[in-house]
Amino acid sequence: MSGSAGAPPLALKPEAAYDVVVIGAGPAGLLAAGRAAQLGARVLLLEKMEKPARKLRITGKGRANVTNMRPLGEHLREIHPEPRFLRQAFGAFFNQELLALLAGQGVPTRVERGDRVFPASDSAWDVADALIAWAAGQGAELVHHARVEQVAVEDGALAGVVVARKGTGAPQFIRARCAVVATGGQSYPATGSTGDGYRFAEATGHRVETLRPSLVGIETAPAFEGVQRFTLKNVLLTLWVDGRKVDSEFGEVELRAKGLGGASVLRLSRKAVDALGAGRKVEVTLDLKPALDPPKLEARLQRDLAAHGGATCGALLRLLLPAPLTGVFCAALGLDPAWPAARLQAAHRRRLLGLLKELRLRVTGHGGWEEAIVTAGGVSLKDLDPRTLASRKVANLFFAGEVLDLDANTGGYNLQIAFSTGWLAGEAAARIAGSLKYVDPAAE
Ligand SMILES: Cc1cc2nc3c(=O)[nH]c(=O)nc-3n(C[C@H](O)[C@H](O)[C@H](O)COP(=O)(O)OP(=O)(O)OC[C@H]3O[C@@H](n4cnc5c(N)ncnc54)[C@H](O)[C@@H]3O)c2cc1C
Repeated sequence: MSGSAGAPPLALKPEAAYDVVVIGAGPAGLLAAGRAAQLGARVLLLEKMEKPARKLRITGKGRANVTNMRPLGEHLREIHPEPRFLRQAFGAFFNQELLALLAGQGVPTRVERGDRVFPASDSAWDVADALIAWAAGQGAELVHHARVEQVAVEDGALAGVVVARKGTGAPQFIRARCAVVATGGQSYPATGSTGDGYRFAEATGHRVETLRPSLVGIETAPAFEGVQRFTLKNVLLTLWVDGRKVDSEFGEVELRAKGLGGASVLRLSRKAVDALGAGRKVEVTLDLKPALDPPKLEARLQRDLAAHGGATCGALLRLLLPAPLTGVFCAALGLDPAWPAARLQAAHRRRLLGLLKELRLRVTGHGGWEEAIVTAGGVSLKDLDPRTLASRKVANLFFAGEVLDLDANTGGYNLQIAFSTGWLAGEAAARIAGSLKYVDPAAE
């Protein structure tokens, strides 16, 4: 494979032509390049960073939640805005096929809670390196430090791409029969995903649905100033829009100086971000004691008061709450933490019980591209053929991965979208490039 550290400039003659050029060596691009090469296409995979798949290497907190073993219907329920668009892509390459591919590259996997799949080694690097080796093994030529600047179109069809190679002179035109844009979204831009594909799409006549950060923390009022990320476990978080209950999530919520994060918040964030964007009133409520109904909670409070009547209000609250929340509760209840708990009146107790079951926070904003796990919005599905991921605007141009107007919940679904759409686009591009050789399916 070309493109190792210190490699010479892209050794391409101006007239050099490829069957398929794949732009971006993330999970979608690696699968597209490998599949196209497997089908006999002459494939060039261009990656602008110093190494491929930088984002993949940090997924799942460095462990890569590569997919989910839930059945197809449940995958589709986790995907927005048009999950049915993925039926053909998932039909061509789904979770079992991914696991087989990884196992074939020496990366066995393990299924964990929630049917989420991780490499048995707990190393996202192993997944990235396995996919790079697989794509190279199929014959794809990978060049890194090669940034595509333009997708060139002639007479309504793909002509090639213009590439700038770091440390070399003028950008080079590379002729290609087909191209697959697999440049990712625009979150975590330090990984290389800076939204270039959206620009390529717009410049070549495609619609791009509004881009929004998704799977992201929210800013709230009140927030938890001075709190260094504290995780609440087993709490129920509910999202309200214009006073109407929209959705709830049970699990972990992280208290942050500016608001909330953590798994439950990420899962509700798409709806919260969209509602904020539409100028609606957005709130969340936290049920800190979801296992206790109000009568049981009241009995518990009475017991604590009887046993610790001489304690301060602050100390009493600490029996019911983690420390970072006591300040917010004292402020909401109008209590001085130094007061003796015996001063708590019936009205205070009623209000305390109410807050424990429903701590209401106004959502005032959300995290930005630096912290969003995925990008919602993207290349409009209306401009693409779901059977091939080919553009309906430019012949022989394909899109795959997060650049598409598709995003999903946490749980391995986003990576599966990238793998499946990459595979399908690579396959379709290879077929269109007319380079399909006979491949014995049993040998694949
Ligand atoms: C912190 C974090 C954790 C995550 N964890 C998970 C998880 O556990 N499970 C899960 O399912 N999803 C997870 N995701 C989401 C998942 O990583 C993405 O959805 C997935 O990587 C998208 O794959 P992609 O190939 O479409 O794009 P990317 O992975 O973004 O790859 C795009 C590639 O294209 C390259 N590129 C961009 N522009 C150009 C250009 N002009 N020329 C050449 N190359 C270019 C980029 O450098 C990059 O290498 C996580 C995301 C983040 C940020």
